[in-house]
Amino acid sequence: MLSGSRYAPLFDRVRIGPVTAPNRFYQVPHCTGMGQALPQTLIAMRAMKAEGGWGVVCTEYCSIHPSSDDHPYPFASIWDDGDLSNLAAMAEAVHAHGALAGIELWHGGSYVANLASRAPTIGVRSMPGRTDPIQSQRMDRRDIGELRRWHRDAALRARKAGFDIIYVYPSHGYLLSEFLSRSLNGRTDEYGGSLENRMRLMRELLEDTRSAVGDRCAIAVRFAANGHGAEHLSEDEARDVVAALGHLPDLWDVVPTDFDEEMGSSRFVREGAFEDRIAYVRQLTGKPVVSVGRFTSPDSMLGQLKRGVIDLIGAARPSIADPFLPTKIREGRIEDIRECIGCNICYAHNFRGAALRCTQNPTMGEEWRSGWHPERVPAGHDGSVLIIGAGPAGLEAAHVLGKRGYTVSLADAAEESGGRVTRESRLPGLAEWARVRDYRLGQINRMRNVSVHLGSRMEAGDVRDFGADHVLIATGAHWRRDGIGRWHVRPIATLAKAQVYTPDDILDGRRPAGDVVIFDDDHYYLGPLIALQLATRGARVRYVTTEGRAGAWSLYTAEQERTQRALLEHGVEVEVNSAVDSFDGVTATLSCIFTGRVRVAPASAVVLVTAREPDEALYRALVGERKEAENMLAGPDGAFPSLQRIGDCLQPALIVHAVYSGHRAARELGGTGSDPRRERVRI
Ligand code: ADP
Ligand code: SF4
Repeated sequence: MLSGSRYAPLFDRVRIGPVTAPNRFYQVPHCTGMGQALPQTLIAMRAMKAEGGWGVVCTEYCSIHPSSDDHPYPFASIWDDGDLSNLAAMAEAVHAHGALAGIELWHGGSYVANLASRAPTIGVRSMPGRTDPIQSQRMDRRDIGELRRWHRDAALRARKAGFDIIYVYPSHGYLLSEFLSRSLNGRTDEYGGSLENRMRLMRELLEDTRSAVGDRCAIAVRFAANGHGAEHLSEDEARDVVAALGHLPDLWDVVPTDFDEEMGSSRFVREGAFEDRIAYVRQLTGKPVVSVGRFTSPDSMLGQLKRGVIDLIGAARPSIADPFLPTKIREGRIEDIRECIGCNICYAHNFRGAALRCTQNPTMGEEWRSGWHPERVPAGHDGSVLIIGAGPAGLEAAHVLGKRGYTVSLADAAEESGGRVTRESRLPGLAEWARVRDYRLGQINRMRNVSVHLGSRMEAGDVRDFGADHVLIATGAHWRRDGIGRWHVRPIATLAKAQVYTPDDILDGRRPAGDVVIFDDDHYYLGPLIALQLATRGARVRYVTTEGRAGAWSLYTAEQERTQRALLEHGVEVEVNSAVDSFDGVTATLSCIFTGRVRVAPASAVVLVTAREPDEALYRALVGERKEAENMLAGPDGAFPSLQRIGDCLQPALIVHAVYSGHRAARELGGTGSDPRRERVRI
């Protein structure tokens, strides 16, 4: 299928030291929220990537010793032989599809807190950790010797478990980058001072790993090609490290300095953005280079390959959004690629200590738990389904039910499909989010058994008259206009209603001007983006939030700092730990959430981003008609259609939840579902 395809070079085999990758698609190490805690879930997820055509599939950060314990985040571990069976099962599952398995050996140094192992944390010097009020123990020569032994033992175990590529990991603020850092490394021994001394430990671990396993396994190094920031490891110094150690590993896995950029959401970082900073590594080392760039377009991949920047297409998020991306390119099915939208909901789940979820790929993390395959759905019946609401929930349900063979009618009152996705994607920086709609619409448009009816508002009588066998209500939710949310449990008593706006008003194109107060009790992207949009159009914007930072939840999506910076740079007044208590049309009263102390701000308009109400009137009306209790799945008497709500109409939440809700309902319609499996610790 590839002959003559311009993408054929993406499927060349690539020699990496003693092993050969079957193609150039390389799933770099990425955290999963699964790790050692959910081994079956993890193995099935990694195996799915290999099945989908990724030529190399790596673990997440894999701790080599109890002194590197990132609890409560579910990292991988290779502390002793007891860890080997799970790791070996992953390597075997990946090998079963012809892919290579990589393992990222990791020591967190001062960064972690060892909350579970209770071992003292260790570092290049004694210093505070990332989150907890704990300082590390300064490593002496003996400790460094121990570390080298742990690393070597871990590499030997990894080889025993069947891994083909073994990482040395001197980046992302962990132990080895502490040693590299000019400012953190204050040592006066042979591991401190000059660059040669600071990179000594990195060199030693590379050499140790080579002598332990280099005959059979490739050695990879993950390195920030432009350093760790001027005060730690400057760009020039990073280049010197690559020049000095370039020959030691078999593969350079290069990233940019700033993790928030490497992990950058589509709001802030475009596809393939790191090229200028990484391009030199391949020239300098002559070794194969892999790097990420949230690549979803085969042309972007090919471009970097042809320009000699990379040899292997690194991916974490694109492989999460579409485990079958390589297969689709190989088969020339580019339009079937489920492109990552760069929302970072995947990362947020790991950050919350939960298994990966993905906005675009509702089967992510469900491969073992629910037995879901990203490309295959169970065959359905030849019944008919009416779906009301073509937002992310309705579109996903229509897509899956269409694939299952049902006759599907998807109706929406609006003149355009996509619901909230279409509307929100017009906010600053969210254009890529429209891919949620476009992927599904693209699939649906090619199905003859699915019809889309826009401009079709449905009332209960219309639904009844339609006479479908199954009805899914996906009518969404709307933002409240009374201030009720997390902070206010009752409506705000004084509100000059004519000048009160909700996010729906803004998304409908209304634009308050003058002194605008935005009250963000939701804490994610909408409040800050509305603030930015209005400020850009000349309003004097005061952003008030009950949290301690602007868009506080976006800390989990690696967007918070850039969000707050953008607000400040656009002249938005940011007032944290505060609530809006009243608004008389001229001023808003704000209060401190700790002391209740009140202050007054000029306000000609207030935008309330507080909470949503499900749009369930249609559902309620249909329930009333049936004169039955609410649980109507698979109507028992056969006289009425089966009826259920999905998406925001059932539970106002994020787009990822709406897609998942639509997917599960569609996959399980007709009784094809079963309760998800659980991984549990048994004694
Ligand atoms: P979700 O996130 O759950 O998919 P959205 O709010 O994005 O929900 O989408 C809901 C969609 O339902 C909107 O496009 C809206 O126009 C549509 N809708 C709501 N009520 C009706 C109705 N009675 N008839 C047809 N479409 C409706
Ligand atoms: Fe991409 Fe969002 Fe899926 Fe993560 S959750 S892989 S960023 S679409």
